[in-house]
Amino acid sequence: MSAEPSTNSMRPSILFPLFAPATTLDGVGPRIAVLLEHLSGLHVVDLLWHLPSGLIDRRYAPKVGEAEAGRVATLTVRVDGHMQPPSRRLPYKVRCSDDTGFLHLVFFHGRPDYLTKALPEGELRVVSGTVEDFRGEMQITHPDHIGTVEEIDKLRAVEPLYPLTAGLSQKVLARTIHGALEHAPVFTEWIEPSVVSRRGWPDWHTAIEAAHAPGGESDIAPDAPARQRLAYDELLASQLALLLLRRRLRRQKGRSVSGDGRLQTRVIDALPFSLTGSQEGALKEIATDMAGPDRMMRLLQGDVGSGKTVVALLAMLIAVETGAQAALMAPTEILARQHHAIVSKLAEPAGIEIVLLTGRDKGKPRQAKLDALADGRASLAIGTHALFQKEIEFADLALAVIDEQHRFGVHQRISLSAKGRSPDVLVMTATPIPRTLLLAAYGDLDASQLTEKPAGRKPIDTRAVPLGRIGEIVGAVERAVADGARVYWVAPLVEESEAIDLAAATERHEALKAVFGKRVGLVHGRMKGPEKDAVMADFTAGRIVVLVATTVIEVGVDVPEATVMVIEHAERFGLAQLHQLRGRIGRGADKSTCLLLYAAPLGETAKARIRIMRETDDGFRIAEEDLRLRGGGEVLGTRQSGLPEFRLADLAVHGELLQIARDDARLVVERDAELQGERGEALRTLLYLFERDAAVKYLRSG
Ligand code: ADP
Ligand code: MG
Repeated sequence: MSAEPSTNSMRPSILFPLFAPATTLDGVGPRIAVLLEHLSGLHVVDLLWHLPSGLIDRRYAPKVGEAEAGRVATLTVRVDGHMQPPSRRLPYKVRCSDDTGFLHLVFFHGRPDYLTKALPEGELRVVSGTVEDFRGEMQITHPDHIGTVEEIDKLRAVEPLYPLTAGLSQKVLARTIHGALEHAPVFTEWIEPSVVSRRGWPDWHTAIEAAHAPGGESDIAPDAPARQRLAYDELLASQLALLLLRRRLRRQKGRSVSGDGRLQTRVIDALPFSLTGSQEGALKEIATDMAGPDRMMRLLQGDVGSGKTVVALLAMLIAVETGAQAALMAPTEILARQHHAIVSKLAEPAGIEIVLLTGRDKGKPRQAKLDALADGRASLAIGTHALFQKEIEFADLALAVIDEQHRFGVHQRISLSAKGRSPDVLVMTATPIPRTLLLAAYGDLDASQLTEKPAGRKPIDTRAVPLGRIGEIVGAVERAVADGARVYWVAPLVEESEAIDLAAATERHEALKAVFGKRVGLVHGRMKGPEKDAVMADFTAGRIVVLVATTVIEVGVDVPEATVMVIEHAERFGLAQLHQLRGRIGRGADKSTCLLLYAAPLGETAKARIRIMRETDDGFRIAEEDLRLRGGGEVLGTRQSGLPEFRLADLAVHGELLQIARDDARLVVERDAELQGERGEALRTLLYLFERDAAVKYLRSG
C-alpha cells in the first residue's frame, strides 16, 4: 500500500494507510474508484465513514415448508434440477427442496454455465434471499447469496446495508469497506477518559468495527454506543479546531476602540423611531467588545426586519468617532446598494463621507473611491466582497461588518479581517440559527440577538392554497393591486438549476402580463446589476406593482409598501427559506398577506412546514423546527446555508454530544493549548483524521 501523504507532510504516519487512495484496496480498480469517490470520497478513510443505513437479518433459517413469504430467509436445500427457459424472455429456474417442501430459485437472464456451477444438481446448497409466494409456489428471485453447507454460518448472519450509488452493488461495496477496515489503526485514546467511561463507549478501533457490523436494529440507531462515539470524535475535532482558530485570531492583538458618542448621538436623535431594548442591548455588547483589548468576533443575530442595519451603523460610528474607518460588506450587489442608500440617509446628521464600492465600479470613479479610502477621507465603506480585494487599502480600518444574511463561512471572514490592523469583526445574520447549529458552526462565538420586533409591525396573515386555485389567486392579487398593494410573486423553485428556475419565472411573468400589462416586472439572479436596480427602483416607486422573482428577493430587499407575497410551489422550499421570503412583507404599516400555493397532495414534511409557517412568525422557533424536520442526513439546507456538514454526527440527534465536546475542547485548550502532552498528541491525530489540518497549523509547534 502506498503511504504517501497527499497535501500535508505533517500528517502522522499512523494515518497514512487511511489517507491512501481507495484504489490501494483489493478489488478496487479505476471504474469502482470513480463510483466510490462519488459515493463517499477518494480515500480509504472515506469508506470507514460510510456507515450502514440498515441491515439484513439472514438468521431466519426455516425448513422450506415453513418459510414465510415476504421474509429474508437462509435455506439449506438440495438442488433437484435446472429448467432452462424456452425463450430468453422467460426466467431460468432451479428447483430445490428439503424434506418439507420445494421451492424455485428464479433468475432472469440467468447464465446457465454460472448457474450449473453454483448450483450443481443433486448437491446441498445454502441460499439466502427474500422468499416469495408465486401463484401458490414458493420461490426466491435472484438469491442474494449461494454457498456451500460449510459456509452456512457466514451466510446466516446479520449483514450491513449501505447507501449505494448507481453502478455499485451492495456486495462489492460491503467487501470494499471490509477491506478498508483492515487498515483501521489502533489509536491512543483522545477523548477525556471520564467521558469514555461514563458513557460506556468503546475505543475508536472497536467502535469503527462495530459500526460496520451491526447485530440488530439498535446498532444502526444514532444513539448506539459505537455511533455515538464516532459522532463525538467528529464533533470534538471540529470544536477543537474552531477553538484553536479563535485563539489564533485573539492572539493577533486587537485594539481598544471607544468613541465619545458624538456622532452616535446625532444619528440617534434624528431617527424617526427609538431603538428597541434588544437593539440597545446588542449595541452595548458590541461597544464593550470594541473597547476591550481583544479583537471582537461577534455575531449579530436577528430575524428579518429586526433592525440590524441601524445597530451596524451605530457600531461603525464608534470607529469613526475615534478617527478610524469602518466597512460594511453585503453578499449581493442589490443589498450593497440598498445598505448604502439606507445608511447614507440615516447617517446624514453625522456628516461623514460614505463610499459605495462594488464590482461595477471601473476606471476613474473607482480610483477616486479607492483614494478616499486610502487617505482616510472616506470614513465608511459599503460594498460587496469587492471591498476586500488585495489592492484596496484603508487608511485605518477598525471595524468590519459582514452582512451574511443566511450564508456563513468562517474562511471568508478570516481573509477579510486580515485588512488593517486586526479590525474588530461583526457578522450579521438574518437566520435565527438554533443554538446547536450556532455552536457547531462557530464554536463559542459571542452572539448578540435582536429578539424584539420593532414596534408597529403587523402580523402577517399566512394562508395555504392548492395550486389548482391559482386563477382565484390572480383575481385576489388584482383586487389587492386595485387597492394600492404591491405584490411579490415568487416563481417555483424547480431544481438546483438557475436556468430552469428562470424559465419558470419567465413563464409566470408572461402569464401575468396578460392581466397586469406593463405593471408586472421580473427580477432574477442572471440579470445584470443595472437592469436589476432599474426593476427594483420601479417596484419601489410603484411603476411596477407585481414583481415576479426567483429567490433573489430572499436576500434583504426592503420595500415597505409590499404587502402581498405569493409563493408558488411552496412545498418545494425549505422552512428557513419560506421564512426569509415571507420576511420581505409585513415591513410597513399596512396588513400583509402571504399565500403559499402548493401542489396537492403534500408529503408529511411539506405539510408540517406549511403548518409551522401558518402557526408562527418566530424565526427561532422556525429554525428549531427546521432542524428537527430535516433531521436525519438531509443536509440540503445545510449545504446551501454554508453551515458545517458532518459525516458521522447528526446535529438533530447529537446536539447534546456537541455541548460535551465543546466543554472538553475548552478544557484541553486551557490545560495544553499547544497539544503537547500525551493526550495532546492523540488530539493532533484526531484533527488530522477529520481533516482539520489547518487547525494544527495554528499551534505554535505544529
Ligand atoms: P434587518 O436588516 O434586521 O432585516 P432592517 O435593519 O432592514 O432589518 O430594519 C427593517 C426596518 O425596520 C427598517 O425600515 C428600519 O428603519 C426599521 N427599524 C429599525 N429599527 C427600528 C426601531 N427600533 N423601531 C422602528 N423601526 C425600526
Ligand atoms: Mg438587513
